[in-house]
Amino acid sequence: MRILLVEDERKVASFIARSLRENAYAVDVAETGEKGLELARENPYDLILLDIRLPGLSGIEVCRKLRQEEVETPIMMLTARNQVGQRVEGLDAGADDYLSKPFALAELQARVRALIRRGFSKSGAKLSFADLELDRHRRRVTRRSEPIPLTTKEFALLEFLLLRAPEAVTRSEIVEHVWDCHFDSETNLVEVYINRLRQKIDHNRPAKLIHTIRGVGYRLGLPE
Ligand code: CA
Repeated sequence: MRILLVEDERKVASFIARSLRENAYAVDVAETGEKGLELARENPYDLILLDIRLPGLSGIEVCRKLRQEEVETPIMMLTARNQVGQRVEGLDAGADDYLSKPFALAELQARVRALIRRGFSKSGAKLSFADLELDRHRRRVTRRSEPIPLTTKEFALLEFLLLRAPEAVTRSEIVEHVWDCHFDSETNLVEVYINRLRQKIDHNRPAKLIHTIRGVGYRLGLPE
């Protein structure tokens, strides 16, 4: 899942971004409201984390503009402690939730998971298909209850395929939701990761779940 973080304080931004990346999210960081707005218009994010106090365009203004432009991405505002007025203003501007600074990373992660879930019809901590199960809270994947260790990127890719299963996803949808804006679209990284995932999920198993659809992309499901 891909997240936009708009935060002008570099230390805070890199701290939050690192924690999210460790949890398998792709993260783009914008240091100003203007840049955040630009990125949010260009990319289909699954969540936007928006600091209220930014130089230039404030978080409130960015949020209001995005909602006016009918960008429906879930937005979580980052507010200063004890600033009830800011929270109310943020929610009125169309934000879905807020988090007061300073916050514990565990709380940030929990709120992020909850908000991203709302954006998909498949909610809940566990995603499954046939004998494959992915636990989003514990970051665990099993097939027939047998644990399968995955890297954070492999996990993110599998999560996206499962959210859409058994429908097909295109290569560009994968790039948009699993990688950040530094992804070089000239590379064959998606293919490389799909192959690695296949090795781990399908190798030596009678029912293959990851399928290539020529000219379209990939599909997680039972063989046709
Ligand atoms: Ca700030």
